[in-house]
Amino acid sequence: MSRKQLSLNDQQASRQRHIYGFSAVIALALMLVAITINAIHAGRMRKTAEGWQMRTMQVLLTAEQVRSAANLALRGERGYLITNDNEFLEPYIQGSREAPKLTAELRARAQDNAVHRPLLAALETRMERYLGVLGRTVSLVRQGRNADAVAMVKSGAGRREIEAVLALIDRIEAEERRLLAEREAINAAAAKATQIADYALAGVAFIFLMIVAWAGVRASQARMTTLAMEEQLRRAATTDELTGLLNRRAFLAALDTEIARSARSGAPLALALIDLDHFKSVNDRFGHAGGDEVLRRFAELARETMRTGDVLGRLGGEEFAVLMPDTDQVESGIAGERLRDGIARRRIILSSGALCGVTISVGVAHYHPGEERDRLILRADEALYDAKDSGRNRTRLAA
Ligand code: GH3
Ligand code: MG
Ligand code: MG
Repeated sequence: MSRKQLSLNDQQASRQRHIYGFSAVIALALMLVAITINAIHAGRMRKTAEGWQMRTMQVLLTAEQVRSAANLALRGERGYLITNDNEFLEPYIQGSREAPKLTAELRARAQDNAVHRPLLAALETRMERYLGVLGRTVSLVRQGRNADAVAMVKSGAGRREIEAVLALIDRIEAEERRLLAEREAINAAAAKATQIADYALAGVAFIFLMIVAWAGVRASQARMTTLAMEEQLRRAATTDELTGLLNRRAFLAALDTEIARSARSGAPLALALIDLDHFKSVNDRFGHAGGDEVLRRFAELARETMRTGDVLGRLGGEEFAVLMPDTDQVESGIAGERLRDGIARRRIILSSGALCGVTISVGVAHYHPGEERDRLILRADEALYDAKDSGRNRTRLAA
């Protein structure tokens, strides 16, 4: 994968993260709106329910007052009739004055209900008739016609009217209680729906949270893939594919770094150039693939032989180089010899089963303070050619 593709991938991942983030904010806002609407709705329902309860209580209270007023008027009328005592006129007058007023008040409170309306109208009529009967009895007593008054009571007209009035009040109360129960049932159902909506919202919030978490995991996975690819690219750019050693460019960069360090600190630095001898004939005998195996095996052996701090690179073809920091001329000559000798003693077993012996020629140059990089390389190269000229399979030190 190329760098361009990588950066495209990164852009895509970051665009995806933006989309996820934006969607998350929108979803959160929507959920907040839904929760608020739900809460407002629940609050309104509670208020309405309280309003209904209040209204029912007022209707029931007024109905009770109507009943009391009617009974009060009756008690006064009967007391006056039996005792002829004016004291009883007081409750009669109070009851008969209040009863129509309270009936009208009850009508005003409850007539928005269609079931109540005919009952209230009937109550008003019956109350009027009832009070009329009482009024006539009282006026007969006032005129001293007690016998007529008693006869009128005995006729049962007053009893029928009060029974009718009380029965109507009972019906109004029963209807009001039924209405309240019905509304409470509706309210309970609505409250349940609100609760279900709350649960649903909580569920959606949970799912949303999971999606956000999943998106986060995906984004970090994508980032890790990108990082791994970048690392792979970086390695491909600095590593020789066949041997895994530094490639020419990376080796020269390492050489520059080490030269700068040595120039600063004055520490010794050595460069060895290595060329496999008669490699053309290795290819001729074992084929190009066999030659590749030999190059790989040589790299492994070189890695095993050289010190940990030494830097190995493949400059191209069958040419290699070793950079030896903190190594003076004598030590670097010994190191070069050790590698050359190690290779010469080995027999490389190829995958075909064939045995292959190779030798190397090594040219070592020791860094002179202030020297240019290319000059150092040239001197090492000259030493290498000297080794070749001297018959190969040997190490030469540059002047
Ligand atoms: P000398 O001792 O003078 O160095 O002889 P030589 O045959 O090694 O030298 P020369 O430079 O003439 O030939 C190098 C050969 O190495 C030629 C080329 O085909 C071979 N070669 C270069 N790169 C590779 C590679 O990656 N794989 C294989 N198998 N062979 C390679
Ligand atoms: Mg060569
Ligand atoms: Mg060669």
